[in-house]
Amino acid sequence: MSARPAPSAAHGAGDRTRERAAAINQLLMGAVTLVAFGVVSLTGVVADENRSIAALVLVFVVTGLTIATPWNRLPPTTLMVVPLLDVVAVGLMESSSPGMGFSLLWVLPCLWLSSSFGIRGFVVSVVVVSGAFWTTALLSSTTFRPTLVLLPVAMIVISAVAYLTARRARAQRRLLRKQGESLKHAVDRAQRQEIVLSEILDAVDFGVVRFDADGTAAMANEAHTRLLTLPARAGDDGKPSVYGPDGITPLTREDEPIARAARGETFESTLAWYGAPGTSRRALSFTARALRGADGAAVGGLVVFQDVTSEVMALRAREDLIASVSHELRTPLTSILGYVDLALDSPELPDASRSSLEVVERNAERLLQIVADLLAASADARGGIALTFHPEHTDLAALVHAAVDAIVTQARSRAITIDTTGVEQVTAWTDPLRMRQVVDNLLSNAVKYHRDGGGLIEVGVTADIDHAWLVVRDDGPGIRAEEVPLLFDRFYRADAVRHTSTHGSGLGLAISLDIMRAQGGDITVRTEEGTGSTFIVRIPVRPAEE
Ligand code: ADP
Repeated sequence: MSARPAPSAAHGAGDRTRERAAAINQLLMGAVTLVAFGVVSLTGVVADENRSIAALVLVFVVTGLTIATPWNRLPPTTLMVVPLLDVVAVGLMESSSPGMGFSLLWVLPCLWLSSSFGIRGFVVSVVVVSGAFWTTALLSSTTFRPTLVLLPVAMIVISAVAYLTARRARAQRRLLRKQGESLKHAVDRAQRQEIVLSEILDAVDFGVVRFDADGTAAMANEAHTRLLTLPARAGDDGKPSVYGPDGITPLTREDEPIARAARGETFESTLAWYGAPGTSRRALSFTARALRGADGAAVGGLVVFQDVTSEVMALRAREDLIASVSHELRTPLTSILGYVDLALDSPELPDASRSSLEVVERNAERLLQIVADLLAASADARGGIALTFHPEHTDLAALVHAAVDAIVTQARSRAITIDTTGVEQVTAWTDPLRMRQVVDNLLSNAVKYHRDGGGLIEVGVTADIDHAWLVVRDDGPGIRAEEVPLLFDRFYRADAVRHTSTHGSGLGLAISLDIMRAQGGDITVRTEEGTGSTFIVRIPVRPAEE
């Protein structure tokens, strides 16, 4: 977890500091004593030489011991003995030459005790130094002098100031240590998060690159390198190596999605092919976002990309299949239509056969139209379907009744009733063939996706000032809410029907929606799983320019 220093190590470091401070303090004491003795010897007034020498020797012995003693191995309070011995040495000096001012040297052990040993040191310094002062003063003279009070008071004040200052310094040190520790924790946490993040990013199979504001890659995961590694890059063999969504238009370096993301552009699901046509290339889908700081300024960009080669290839294969199947269907259908036309041109054709052949002709024409739509749909996987329209004022009621008539037998075989009482007499501005295609699709869906065991389909047509409305409602199985937004996607089939024997391509609703939108209309759906579906078609009643 966090890298907090072990208590023993902290203790050791503190002791070493104490050892160093003790040596400095004691050396200072020794130096000041030497100076004091030098000054006093110059004046030549030393009352008791033996005591002076004893004091001097004591100070030097204590200094030597202080330097030599390994204080870190002893309890911290044992160090108190050094300033206490200094108090004794100063007492000896003072009593050897009373009134020479040696008593001032007590200030040094006082400061030491008060600043280094907390409240205990302060009390000891006050008691011991005052006691030593009065003892030596009384030994040398019994008369009262103001210094007998003033000096101890001054010592007490100095000790108090030293004690308080040291306490404040200790508190600040503690605070700094705490702040240092929490800073260290924060840095540790950030480092751990960074490691976890890069582990996650390296584990996923999509590339991620984060760009700085100047376009340099600040972070990239492993998949990034793997996905962007190309068999041959531009310049290696003179050929470009990144191509647009069609796979054949080469992209310049500036137009490559990675370069665009580095410039801070935002785009969604942009496809690019890496590798020249004919080589083992891959299709990558890029999504990029420009990143902004709290102040709204651009701080760089982020791009995420993944390998979609198999999806793109599968889509292409399906579209190729649809294209070739529908293409193959076109020829025999055109031939059928040609021969039906020929037969209809014959004057000897009996009336009954003529009307049958007309039905064949109408349906063959519709079939041809559907084949054309399929071809258009497969020609452009991403764009809309290229449809041609011939709108006219169309009797919507007649069109709906004809569509219902065409499916009623199939509905009846499944015990489904189609109620057309809601069909009002309405004229709309639409291509009748296309409109019939939409109505047929909605009716056939309502019948084929209905549950076994019968049911009801209600068809209604009405109009307001601008639009005609066609409603196809069934009390079938309905569609799951999460699938509703996908219903109008090309090739989408609901989960519930995908693995059943009910045939379908998933194109009907997509083509119907394209047809309606291209004519200024729309299709919406209201559905609830278990209760049925209602498809609502909006159709303009007059041309847009009117
Ligand atoms: P297809 O019918 O060829 O599968 P469509 O585009 O017409 O394609 O329909 C897409 C999907 O919507 C269908 O596969 C089906 O799952 C669902 N669907 C459409 N109409 C209905 C309906 N009336 N009731 C239940 N599900 C429906």
